[in-house]
Amino acid sequence: MPLSPKKWSKLECQQLIEKITHRIKVTYAKKLSYAGRLQVITAVLFSIYSFWGAVFILPQSVLKEVDKRCRDYLWGTSEDKRRVPLVSWEKICCPKKNGGLNIKGCSSWNKASVGKLLWQLTHSKNSLCVKWVHDIYIKNDPNVWSHTVPQDFSWYWKKLNSLKEKMQEWYVQGKYILTPKGDYSITSSYNALLGGQVKMENASLVWSKFAQPKHRFIAWLATKKRLLTKERLGQMRIIVIDMDCCLCDDQEIETSQHLFGEPKLVFDVIRRKHWQKLKKEVMAAIWGATIYHIWTAMNKKLFQNRNVQVDTIVTQIKKEIKERIGMIKLSNRGSRSRGFIQRLLCNKRYAVPVFLWKLGAL
Ligand SMILES: [Zn+2]
Repeated sequence: MPLSPKKWSKLECQQLIEKITHRIKVTYAKKLSYAGRLQVITAVLFSIYSFWGAVFILPQSVLKEVDKRCRDYLWGTSEDKRRVPLVSWEKICCPKKNGGLNIKGCSSWNKASVGKLLWQLTHSKNSLCVKWVHDIYIKNDPNVWSHTVPQDFSWYWKKLNSLKEKMQEWYVQGKYILTPKGDYSITSSYNALLGGQVKMENASLVWSKFAQPKHRFIAWLATKKRLLTKERLGQMRIIVIDMDCCLCDDQEIETSQHLFGEPKLVFDVIRRKHWQKLKKEVMAAIWGATIYHIWTAMNKKLFQNRNVQVDTIVTQIKKEIKERIGMIKLSNRGSRSRGFIQRLLCNKRYAVPVFLWKLGAL
């Protein structure tokens, strides 16, 4: 247990930030999809959780800066160009079932993780380290909760004790109550620090395992209506001269509804069907792939003035879904749906529903 007595210096903080975010710097030049960047961020943050943040109380300035670098990297902001975050970092740091990306925000994670030390202090009294802390620091107080920190004690000890107030809510009669067995869980503590979260409808369908990661990310943004359509740019007070949809000649305003349909309607249809779970997930994956390809078609039109043919997209979607299903081993139950999947991918008849879905009409 590191009871480094001194507060971190500015230089130490800077070095630590550089060390932690080194991987972001290395991959900045590579063109990665949102999903790819999300993976890099997860790896960067994992290094904090598993090493730095597990025992050290890191200064707020370090945690904030690491969060900022991860956030900028995700949305593509670099030194020479600024990009608007499409979803707030706070939201992103929630579990997927609550509408986030399951990224663990540094600050809360560090608290939750260091909270384990306090738990150990109350629960593993036989460990040599804990005995030592009790002898040196807690001394005459009955336990760590009722202990008041004398002014001349170390920075680390003071900091650790300052976290107690929030953590006390997780204990009833000295027992940790966030897990059934009473064993400390960093994730449970982290979620408790996030506070009450609203459940995201249809999260399991948006994150269908049959969808490619890059499809899922875009589908997630579409569900939140955060993809940059002309309508969305308008909402963000960015002036757009021509509001017409860039993909069709219908002279319709380029809204999220027009381009991607109403995800909720599509999910309602999928839910109502008496299909096996697997079939529902495959359908949701096709929906996600469709959204992704409409989005890329839009970008190709806008930035390269290239038109993408619908037939090409349909072929591509079938290929991608087929690959994905091939990667995921079907259970016995699932293999009963094999016939359905085969029909879906081989039969021409099924190409049409894919695009009806776009309109939320199916
Ligand atoms: Zn259109």
